[in-house]
Amino acid sequence: MSDSIFTRIIKRELPADIVYEDDDIIAFRDINPQAPTHVLIVPKVEIATVNDIKPEQAELIGNLVLVAQKIALDEGIAEDGFRLVVNCNRHGCQEVFHLHMHLVGGRQLRGISAS
Ligand code: AMP
Repeated sequence: MSDSIFTRIIKRELPADIVYEDDDIIAFRDINPQAPTHVLIVPKVEIATVNDIKPEQAELIGNLVLVAQKIALDEGIAEDGFRLVVNCNRHGCQEVFHLHMHLVGGRQLRGISAS
């Protein structure tokens, strides 16, 4: 199977504005930002969707949130607040099938709707 877009960013085959990286996680600015801060937090291992997370990956998934917390502080949006979003499959409007968490903030967001 060919590498995902995000794996190609991890391998530095595609450019990205990287704001955080460790052995397991990378974070970079979304190419089509929906707010002043819009960062994607991505596990380096290719997990296609939330449906594919294994119990032994629970620590890794938790660490995505801790990285989001750190980036929100670095971006100066922690106190005002922000949103973390993980889309899954068609009904969730997932476009890139390499698990990622959106960190969105820097402006007043509208209330989340179920529609
Ligand atoms: P999702 O709908 O949750 O799969 O979101 C995928 C996100 O990846 C979208 O917000 C895109 O704008 C973003 N995206 C796609 N390609 C790139 C890229 N090369 N660099 C940064 N963000 C990207």
